[in-house]
Amino acid sequence: MSPDLAALLTLQEDDTTKGAIDERLPEPDRRTEALDGERAADNASMERTRASAEAAEKQRRELSHKIEEHRAMQDRNLSVLDAVRKQREATAAMTQVDMVRRVLVQEESDLQSLNGRIADLKRAEEATLVVLGEVDERQRAERADIARQRAELEEEMESARRKRDASAEKVPRSILSKYERIRGREKSFALYQLRGAACGRCNTAIPLQRRNVMAAGRTIEVCEGCGVLLYTPG
Ligand SMILES: [Zn+2]
Repeated sequence: MSPDLAALLTLQEDDTTKGAIDERLPEPDRRTEALDGERAADNASMERTRASAEAAEKQRRELSHKIEEHRAMQDRNLSVLDAVRKQREATAAMTQVDMVRRVLVQEESDLQSLNGRIADLKRAEEATLVVLGEVDERQRAERADIARQRAELEEEMESARRKRDASAEKVPRSILSKYERIRGREKSFALYQLRGAACGRCNTAIPLQRRNVMAAGRTIEVCEGCGVLLYTPG
């Protein structure tokens, strides 16, 4: 076997190794996505609960403010009632006091239900946090394993790339550029062994004269049928 052919075969082997690592590279991301997916429903439910709690708290602040205003108003109404002497004025003041009292009763009842709702939401949020904590705990080992896998793959890739580049250095430029063109096109092997008298890939017959040259180990031929590089095992 000619040194050029040997170098090219080594390069093809290195590229195959590198390609296999390439295919495994997205694995850590896929695994991470799956774990994130397991967490997603609980996470979304917690966000919703949190948003509802915030909205209810805002409502409570507004309502508390209104109640304060109405209480102050009622204090003034009561002073007026206290000060009136005439029956007619007393009736009017009493009506006012009654009206504000009814409003206050309603508002205070609303405030109580809001308090209850906020407490429920807080409990729900805490419960979901506990669940999320459990999920995280369960996923901890797997996530650590994913990080390990990612580091290993990157290291493997780096060393495969270095080896491949070193092998490419040993292949003559003209053959290398042909090889790389074919690989870029085919996304698979660029170099095939002759099968009998024909191309090992597309089975196109190779003329005897060219086969003889190949057998002598002098050249690497291009298949006229499919364009891959051909060699004899010799
Ligand atoms: Zn062919």
